[in-house]
Amino acid sequence: MRPDHFTPLFASAQSLTGIGPRLISLLKKAVRLQPGTTEPRVVDLLWHTPTGVIDRRAQPTVAGATPGTIATFEVRILKHRPPQRGNTKAPYRIATEDDTGALDLVFFRAERKYIETMLPEGSVRFISGRVEAYGDKLQMTHPDYIVTPERRDELPLLEPVYPLTAGLSGKVLLKAIRQAVDRIPAMPEWQDAAWLAARRWPEAQAALQTLHRPTDAADISPGSPPWQRLAFDELLAGQLALAIVRQSYKAQRGRPVTGDQRIRRRILDALPFALTNSQMTALEEIAKDMAAPNRMLRLLQGDVGSGKTVVALMAMATAVEAGTQAALMAPTEVLARQHMETIQPLAVKAGLRLGLLTGREKGRPRKQVLELLSEGEIDILIGTHALFQDDVHFKDLAFAVIDEQHRFGVHQRLALQTKGGDTGANVLVMTATPIPRTLLMTHYGDLDVSRLTEKPAGRKPVQTTLVSLERLEAVTDGLRRAVSEGAQIYWVCPLIETSDVSELAAAEERAAHLTQIFGSSVGLLHGAMSGAAKDAVMAAFTANELKILVSTTVIEVGVNVPNASIMVIEHAERFGLAQLHQLRGRVGRGSRQSFCVLLYKAPLGETAESRLKMMRDTEDGFLIAEKDLELRGGGEVMGARQSGAPEFRVADVPGYADLLAAARDDAALILARDPKLLSPRGQALRQLLYLFECDEAIRLFRAG
Ligand code: ADP
Ligand code: MG
Repeated sequence: MRPDHFTPLFASAQSLTGIGPRLISLLKKAVRLQPGTTEPRVVDLLWHTPTGVIDRRAQPTVAGATPGTIATFEVRILKHRPPQRGNTKAPYRIATEDDTGALDLVFFRAERKYIETMLPEGSVRFISGRVEAYGDKLQMTHPDYIVTPERRDELPLLEPVYPLTAGLSGKVLLKAIRQAVDRIPAMPEWQDAAWLAARRWPEAQAALQTLHRPTDAADISPGSPPWQRLAFDELLAGQLALAIVRQSYKAQRGRPVTGDQRIRRRILDALPFALTNSQMTALEEIAKDMAAPNRMLRLLQGDVGSGKTVVALMAMATAVEAGTQAALMAPTEVLARQHMETIQPLAVKAGLRLGLLTGREKGRPRKQVLELLSEGEIDILIGTHALFQDDVHFKDLAFAVIDEQHRFGVHQRLALQTKGGDTGANVLVMTATPIPRTLLMTHYGDLDVSRLTEKPAGRKPVQTTLVSLERLEAVTDGLRRAVSEGAQIYWVCPLIETSDVSELAAAEERAAHLTQIFGSSVGLLHGAMSGAAKDAVMAAFTANELKILVSTTVIEVGVNVPNASIMVIEHAERFGLAQLHQLRGRVGRGSRQSFCVLLYKAPLGETAESRLKMMRDTEDGFLIAEKDLELRGGGEVMGARQSGAPEFRVADVPGYADLLAAARDDAALILARDPKLLSPRGQALRQLLYLFECDEAIRLFRAG
């Protein structure tokens, strides 16, 4: 249970004064939500960090003010001069002064009542905004702040600027965030005192305060002491949580599983190809882990198209040979169904009984799957998040595979693993993201890794070209030729920041445009479609009835249509490198020469150009991932944006790799000395874990 004093922080943001149902839906767009939450909470506002400041500290006399600058004045309100009746264009002017001169306040389309209450004649007000020269007079149009002397504190002299969304004003957000800061409870220091002193880092509460009430523009830079401190807090929480998970994992007895090869042999016989050496090595490593008495947690890393699915299938077959069950969890409905379709024919030949469970199986069919599962009549269950719902009971789950791991959180991994009863299931996680070492550490701690380093035989390099959107017609001409020669094409539409709606509109528009050229052989796939509609489109594309599949980024993971040989990515400059690499990996799977066309909007910035050129020049996933990390920082590479799940709240800072290494060492040291976090520092660290919502790690203390 989270300590009581954190409760106000984890309440909905609606509990803040001034935040009602309308604003909460705007906040939802502006603020990053944590996975598993549906609306912003107070704590999420704390992590909504400013991107700049407006400096209102200049408090000149009116006579000494410089036109064009932002200034804060203390003025007397002299006289209101409303526009003449009927003249809606003329502004409402208010004459004010201080001891040195006169300043007019100017309001267009003013609401008279409001202005009269805000600025009664004869009163004194603090106002802040941009000073303008109007003829030989000074004026300020729509001051940003108007406050009474008693409420002067509400006028931020150094105003943090936050990422906003249409309809949400900075002032409203600022007010909400300030309340959030006021809700931070007194917290014990969880960092090592000497370490803090050496770095001159403030206390956590003070750091958050400074970030949201800066006294210097430098305070809100990610390199500033308060920010660095919080980044380190987040990294330490993450590393500690991972270390705890690993520790309890290793300590718990696992489930030794060994097979007799009989099902695997049948699968190999049924495969139209031989396994590559690295597939075989990976399988040996996995089998060894499975046979060992402690719990298995291994990562299978293999570039797109490297053939992870068949490795997973063989490993699952091992569990079935041992008389137990296996599960395969995919991040999306489309992908789960695709796995089902690929595995089904092999399963039939090998005598494996499959079941499918996604969010779409409901009512009777779902009930039936659950029954068969608990009776042990299903050997391998394939599905989505639906697999770890409470009423899913396996008869004897000994092995779970999680595909495209980076889309799932630690707690989801644990939830699936606990479906394996007291001993827990052995877990294999698979990812196509070639995760650099530093990131592996952040997300998995020390994890056993198998890598698929070779591509299956017969895969041909994909020829990548960069084409400006201005030459769209040349591209469609080329596609017309390709289609007439039997090729199939993916056309991925741009990612548009913060707006799913326009992303969809762009895809629809492109589909309409291509339909004019190619007629009914164009299909459209997007995230807002119903599951059945998605299936139908995917099936038609797989069956080669559709020649061109226009989609938003929903196809990005795992889809396998070998005959598709051309990938067009529109506004490629808006995608992350890792994402482009994944998309490109959808082609080059069949016998045809494959192409990837990166359509960009000219002119490209220098970085954007070097990124796209890098894509053109290499297909090496590792190189690309490392470059991506260098260019975009940690969260992006792991697919934070792709999944909508934030990876870091504040830890995406310069020097992050060093902080991470330090956090990891610190976590190891802490647990070596105090494995149950019972010492005073240990108790404080528990609070850190709660603050960063690593609750699942703490839960393990009680479970274990
Ligand atoms: P990913 O690692 O991206 O999940 P898949 O498992 O979808 O890759 O495999 C991509 C394609 O390669 C599939 O069509 C699969 O049948 C094929 N494949 C897998 N292993 C081999 C192999 N050893 N030889 C030839 N083709 C293979
Ligand atoms: Mg795959």
